[in-house]
Amino acid sequence: MKHVIALDVGGTGMKAALLAQDGSVLFEARRPTGREHGTDAVVTAILDFAADLADEGRGRFGSDPLAAGVAVPGTLDEKNGIAVFSANLGWRDLPLRKLLGERLAGKDGTAMPVALGHDVRSGGLAEGRLGAGRGVDRFLFIALGTGIAGAIGIGGRIEAGAHGYGGEIGHVVVRPGGPACGCGARGCLETLASASAVSRAWAAASGDPQADAAACADAVDAGDERARQVWQLAVDALADGIVLAQSLLDPSTVIVGGGLAEAGDTLFTPLRAAVTERLTFQMPPVVVPAMLKDTAASLGAGLLAWDLLSVTPPSDRA
Ligand SMILES: [Zn+2]
Repeated sequence: MKHVIALDVGGTGMKAALLAQDGSVLFEARRPTGREHGTDAVVTAILDFAADLADEGRGRFGSDPLAAGVAVPGTLDEKNGIAVFSANLGWRDLPLRKLLGERLAGKDGTAMPVALGHDVRSGGLAEGRLGAGRGVDRFLFIALGTGIAGAIGIGGRIEAGAHGYGGEIGHVVVRPGGPACGCGARGCLETLASASAVSRAWAAASGDPQADAAACADAVDAGDERARQVWQLAVDALADGIVLAQSLLDPSTVIVGGGLAEAGDTLFTPLRAAVTERLTFQMPPVVVPAMLKDTAASLGAGLLAWDLLSVTPPSDRA
């Protein structure tokens, strides 16, 4: 069975799979990054995990993986295969593609082809081809987690922009002069509508420092008026961001994932209403939950590996 290695390196954990050409998962595994032991240990953990996955593939299918795809957080230089910076994992200018290619080299010393991808854009790619965006030509993927990140899907691939910063909807300013953002600006969407922002707002409003976004959603469902107000502020900010994106990109579908999207209809019902009421001339997008949950980036990394081998992406096949 032909297969590739798919690996998603997160802040605390790594998710991996062996992926067949049609995108089906042949094997899955998870490991900690061990970031508490420092950046060198994280890099060693990544290389070891990839090598063990290659062994797993050989053992199961009797052949070497054809390629590997790795999704990482932070900034990266996809063209040159360099993980430029990650605040979480501590690396700077890490030549990850080269390191992995060498570690996974065949018996004759030929480096394995390795694709390096951005975690959220890889997740968006997987949602587009295998998940909620399947069959959709143009979509916007938004991940509502600790921060807010996005990916612009066009024709079966992700538009990363000229410098690799395309899709950063979390840093669109929706409330000028609003809360300070980690990026240095004020009033960015992620300061108002990320899972962390809702957790902070609900902890303050409820007086319970442990209260989080999921608790806020539960309180909204239970009819708590303070929770509804906190929730609506986030929903309104998110709708402003989506409408801005709609005016610029005109996607047919907006796929919303990440922790906050776990709230289901508690989020999607008011969000769809808030988007619709803001539209003037724009065509309304279909706003749907992401389908692939926390395996999206790993699957997307595997798709990048297959793309490297110039095969037809699954969704493009009849
Ligand atoms: Zn920002």
